[in-house]
Amino acid sequence: MNDPKFTATLPASERIHARLTAAGRRFHANDNIAEFIEDGDLHELEDEVTAQLQGLLETLVIDTQNDHNTHGTARRVAKMFLHEVFRGRYHPMPPVTEFPNAERLNELMIIGPITVRSACSHHLVPILGRLYIGVLPSEQSNLVGLSKYSRVADWIMSRPQIQEEAVMQLADLLESRLKPDGLAIVLEADHYCTQWRGVKDEAHMTNSVMRGQFLVNPELRKEFLQLACRR
Ligand SMILES: [Zn+2]
Repeated sequence: MNDPKFTATLPASERIHARLTAAGRRFHANDNIAEFIEDGDLHELEDEVTAQLQGLLETLVIDTQNDHNTHGTARRVAKMFLHEVFRGRYHPMPPVTEFPNAERLNELMIIGPITVRSACSHHLVPILGRLYIGVLPSEQSNLVGLSKYSRVADWIMSRPQIQEEAVMQLADLLESRLKPDGLAIVLEADHYCTQWRGVKDEAHMTNSVMRGQFLVNPELRKEFLQLACRR
């Protein structure tokens, strides 16, 4: 199955699928699969996704030949999925340069609000939110520039997501890179799948992850929540 001569004859999606399966890797909607995508694959994948979306429009009985509005929709949506709204699945993590904590900072840092955009895995409908990150560095912590937090958050959120899983993924990533004494994340988001469809009601959800000192030190947690919520 993973013989390169055999897989070369497969469509790009099946080649990537075969590599993931051979490596025993999970490829849920909110997993990044960039390391299994080789040069040229994304280009082919774009053609494949376009063809499938064109089929979808035809199945929805939309006359894309005569309706100039939908004439290029399949290609536009394919590009949007692969390179914009879901690029966090197909493109590698943006470079994040870490630098040592030379000043031995150990004060609470709060980053946010960071505007985040995602889509729910259930309906592929937008989730728009605001994210707050609290970091309590340790003397050994690696630090990263402020703008990197939003780039990394954006990479995690640019996938079909589930809000509770998105904050865990971001917390795991930041914890592994920064090695802080404490990490706190709060995400407040509006879910358009319950406004655009379903109950058509306001659907606002807030969830948080607390790690390290934020779990055991209620004063620190309080300080973070007060400062973050005031913004
Ligand atoms: Zn949904």
